[in-house]
Amino acid sequence: MKGVIIEGPGKLEVKEFETPEISLPEEVLVKVEGCGVCGTDIHLYQGLEFAKYPVIPGHEFVGKIIRMGKTAEKYFKVGDRVAIDPNLPCYVCQECRKGRYNLCSNMVNIGVNKDGGFAEYTVVNYKQIYRVPLGLDLKIAVLAEPVSCIIHGIEKGNLQFDDKVLIIGAGPIGILTQKILENVYGVKEVFVQEINEKRIENAQKLGVKNISKSYSLSFDVIFEMSGSLQGFEESLKILNKGGILVQFGVAQENSFAKINQYSIYKKELNIIGSFVNPYTMAKALMILDAYSPVFSGIVDKEIETFEELSQILKGEIRTTDFTKAILTY
Ligand SMILES: [Zn+2]
Ligand SMILES: [Zn+2]
Repeated sequence: MKGVIIEGPGKLEVKEFETPEISLPEEVLVKVEGCGVCGTDIHLYQGLEFAKYPVIPGHEFVGKIIRMGKTAEKYFKVGDRVAIDPNLPCYVCQECRKGRYNLCSNMVNIGVNKDGGFAEYTVVNYKQIYRVPLGLDLKIAVLAEPVSCIIHGIEKGNLQFDDKVLIIGAGPIGILTQKILENVYGVKEVFVQEINEKRIENAQKLGVKNISKSYSLSFDVIFEMSGSLQGFEESLKILNKGGILVQFGVAQENSFAKINQYSIYKKELNIIGSFVNPYTMAKALMILDAYSPVFSGIVDKEIETFEELSQILKGEIRTTDFTKAILTY
């Protein structure tokens, strides 16, 4: 089979591999149908702290079951079309035993520390696959993993429909969050802040109305989805009393913010992190299926060769020129 492998930071190759095989009763061999490109894949090429090199990247994928072990057979059939939750917790560490599976100390992250979906076949555990609703378009189904992370973020933001909300960053995550807040959660006042002209233009094409480089407003809930230090620091200044800031964007590992300690006390501000997707994959697929027209057009770039994919991962093609790219097989 053909695929892309990142041998180490800055080292990427397109090559032929042996097709992987299942060896355990819990394992499932999946033929990948499509896999989304995520910022994490690009960070992985640049060097990511929790990665294990060499690794085949890609963690946002949909595929068909080709073969599986005995345990998996109790729940799935050969030919089932499934979306993959890339994160498999250990169920035994202190965090897992407290029910915080997304914070597992021994987490397997497909496409980061175990081979992922940027190859024709991959092996996953039956605990991390979810049947895709019948007939759901690939370009929508492939959004299951990012949407599952967004649902976790929204739940952490304890959002009410009458909250005034700001989303910082109009990349694919910011746009998906805007769509979900307005259409699924019925939030009436959702604003998006973005500094990149091309991204503003793309968001407007996708029907995002309230988008601007800055606002002279204050907000009840802010989703920081750009990972920028400036976005984080400014958020705290424009939060209403009792407001919630959800840090969703991947920040630099060595970045430290300057924040006003007194305002956190006096205004009862809340700063909350949101990391991956504890048991939100089923909800994500349900939302994508029930509201599928809302998500059409978000995947606006189809990659057909591993060579083009590697140019994107290496940063040779600007990712701001499109909203969401997927590799199709
Ligand atoms: Zn991702
Ligand atoms: Zn664990």
